[in-house]
Amino acid sequence: MCTNGADRGKSNVLVSRPDWLREKGANSDEMSEDRLVDLLRRLIAARSPNPPGDERRVAEVIREEATRLGLPEPDCHALDPRRPNLLFRLGHGPPTLILAAHMDTVPAGETASWNSDPFELSERDGELVGLGTADMKASIAAMLIASARWLRAPTAPGSVALVFSADEENYSRYGMQYLAECGLLVGDAAVVTEPVEPRHRVLAELLHRSARLLRRMAEGTR
Ligand SMILES: [Zn+2]
Repeated sequence: MCTNGADRGKSNVLVSRPDWLREKGANSDEMSEDRLVDLLRRLIAARSPNPPGDERRVAEVIREEATRLGLPEPDCHALDPRRPNLLFRLGHGPPTLILAAHMDTVPAGETASWNSDPFELSERDGELVGLGTADMKASIAAMLIASARWLRAPTAPGSVALVFSADEENYSRYGMQYLAECGLLVGDAAVVTEPVEPRHRVLAELLHRSARLLRRMAEGTR
């Protein structure tokens, strides 16, 4: 559900704090709510409006966080050096679950229409606000944290491919289209973590959906 700058809706910039963060065991130091929100803050500050399109800052934040979480180095594929796509391959063997998110956002539009700096994460009435928070930098944060948790305590055999793509907001020539043409999108199931609800509870939704899929994959391979 991507939009262009002209019809950017309010729901595009909001995400609720997820309940799972308050669940028992979810607050290890590396994966605490504060760390997750801090990651989201850095992703929002890493400007990536498209057009014009330049995802290098976001890719750098993802790389830094992946290193902190102990994830392996990603492969980088780019039709243009300013438009990187990052692919992480976690775990071993089939089946492979693909989790995909895009790194670019729509343009901020008229800054006067914002109640706060669009590139500075803020909290209002229990919701997090910033350009691309729901669409879809919260998804990026959730994918990294969920993958790290799964790697430490795998709930299913197989592997996970994280795809962080460029250029989704402007026809994907440098992103998914390029990756598909290169034959890099191969897996047994995929979750595109694009927000689909008016009130996006992306983080919690993604984790729950991923856990269900991983369970199904495990059942199918027994
Ligand atoms: Zn989107």
